[in-house]
Amino acid sequence: MQPDIDAAAAATAATGRDGGADTEVVIALRGVERVYRSGHLDYLALRGVDLTVDAGEMVAIAGPSGSGKSTVLNIMTGIDRPTSGSVTVGGRELDSMSEDELAVWRGEHVGIVFQFFQLLPTLTALENTMLPLDFARRGSVEERLTTANERLELVGLGDRVDRFPSELSGGEQQRVAIARAMACDPLLLVADEPTGNLDSETASAMLDVLQSVNRTGTTVVYVTHDVTLGARAGRVVTLRDGVVVDDGR
Ligand code: ADP
Repeated sequence: MQPDIDAAAAATAATGRDGGADTEVVIALRGVERVYRSGHLDYLALRGVDLTVDAGEMVAIAGPSGSGKSTVLNIMTGIDRPTSGSVTVGGRELDSMSEDELAVWRGEHVGIVFQFFQLLPTLTALENTMLPLDFARRGSVEERLTTANERLELVGLGDRVDRFPSELSGGEQQRVAIARAMACDPLLLVADEPTGNLDSETASAMLDVLQSVNRTGTTVVYVTHDVTLGARAGRVVTLRDGVVVDDGR
């Protein structure tokens, strides 16, 4: 077997997806700069970030407050756009996509876990998890139910699918948020300080869940300022003052 075929096979094995030889690299940021403008002042939040994440990796983005972690994450998902530089995710150049295209692409390929869970309070855990499948009109209602149940099983909530968010602990709500983010079987799961509102024991359990997700082949990138939680990733990328000072390789 030729080396590039080996690489493609490894990527497919890691992701469970057969997207061709170039899918081994899931995220490529090249020379990414992000300037925030407020009034007459420009603030250079990212100063030329180069970062590559391969299929099946679990990467923590670490660094002090204000170093650019959230900005990098938002640029990876197309929520934010760089002022200059290029962003390629799953073989798509995000820079060339319109806002509408980005929204559709994100819904299909990226799962996002928010720090404050952002579950709908009037929906059960199962209904919250089904939402992305409903939006994407993916499969029949029966199939959506089956998928949502499987995702809740994956995060260890198989016995609480009919609970409303108010009937779940903070850690359990965060698990529902992960199950929901995984609903459409994303290429990439991102989480910005997913443990920020959890006590240390619950935060550690949350990292167990992210590791389980990663073992299914999904690439996981999460932001943390906690060294212990960062160490649970396969690789830690450290940012300081808007640049990568250590890519963990
Ligand atoms: P981190 O996630 O590491 O705390 P951020 O990516 O949130 O860092 O922010 C990086 C820098 O950019 C910070 O100095 C922050 O104050 C600044 N920043 C972030 N968002 C904005 C914004 N919308 N307008 C102006 N400055 C911003």
